[in-house]
Amino acid sequence: MDVRTLARYPFLPDAPGVVREMGVSVEDLIRSMAYERVRARGVERAAAAVRNGVIPPPALSGEEEVFAELLSYPVARMVVSCTGDRALARRFSVAEAQRASMLLAEEDTGFLLWFAGRFGLECRDASGSRGEVEVFFTDYLRYTVRLRSSDWKLVNQPLKRGWVSLEKARFVRLLENVVLDAVGRDLPLPVGEDVVEVFGAVAGSILGEFQSRRMEAEDLRTGRVSVRLFPPCMKQMLARVQNGENLSHNARFALTAFLHAVGMSNEDILALFSSSPDFAESIARYQIEHITGASGGTEYSPPSCGSLKTLGLCPGEDRLCSMEWMNHPLTYYRTKTRDVSRKRREARKAGSGGDGGSKDGSGKDGSAEDRGGGGEIGGGGGG
Ligand code: SF4
Repeated sequence: MDVRTLARYPFLPDAPGVVREMGVSVEDLIRSMAYERVRARGVERAAAAVRNGVIPPPALSGEEEVFAELLSYPVARMVVSCTGDRALARRFSVAEAQRASMLLAEEDTGFLLWFAGRFGLECRDASGSRGEVEVFFTDYLRYTVRLRSSDWKLVNQPLKRGWVSLEKARFVRLLENVVLDAVGRDLPLPVGEDVVEVFGAVAGSILGEFQSRRMEAEDLRTGRVSVRLFPPCMKQMLARVQNGENLSHNARFALTAFLHAVGMSNEDILALFSSSPDFAESIARYQIEHITGASGGTEYSPPSCGSLKTLGLCPGEDRLCSMEWMNHPLTYYRTKTRDVSRKRREARKAGSGGDGGSKDGSGKDGSAEDRGGGGEIGGGGGG
């Protein structure tokens, strides 16, 4: 088989045999100086998949590049397996499948049919009719069962004697699921101590970053918003509301748009404003729904630093605000969030146990600092 094809699609069932024929062993991959570049590429591959959900397209300019690309895949699997984390492994598999999908979209129908056949799919060329392929319904069902949209349901397909007709783009989408299964099957694999010795540290760091991001995503999903990470302008407006002061229209707009953007629910924002002396629920609700786009119109972004300064709503600059590139309260919040995640990771690495992260693996923060010492709003009918 053409090695260049395998480098583009290293999860093809033929790949392990070809690598063996090349005389490359696991021992070589993890220890030999000759494979140092391959190891670096494999680590990058795993890290990019987990960090960005995207694996850059393969660079296959020369023979060396082709081999490095092909062998980086088993290395990336070893790195992922060293984490022992199923969710991380799933993210890696999704990124691999999406990259494959991009590459497959560039191939012709003949190649796609060959590719599908390598994974045992029953499919055939139907280009005589409308440039389509046909997939036997059992395979169609197997690889589309996770696609929720109704236009993938079997009852909505042109079906003739058990064969489902598909246009090329939809066939590629189905093949993406085939790749997802092939890559994700058995991951994370059990790994030996020699593999852990070589990749354990970098795998630990990728896992730490992944867990921090998962915690942040969970915070957003549950509406937990950490006031401690707010920029001074928003902290000040929030404090004024909580002290029962009325805010100007501009301040109310800025604070509402900001709280919405960082993941607070409209009900929680409403509850927050309920302590204002001029609070009228129906008017407040209307305004909040208007600003957040819940009423079906535009979803407004919070104003930039420049606008807040012009409106007299920037209380002066702390160290982060004074950075030349700081131009938006959301940039401030995201920078701080990343900073906290990094500190958590470092603390976890140092094994201090005082990282402000999950102590019980539940993903819930334990420290008063991370909860803002009572400064956490939302998710529990805050305000
Ligand atoms: S510089 Fe920007 S983020 Fe900082 S307080 Fe002023 S408006 Fe807010």
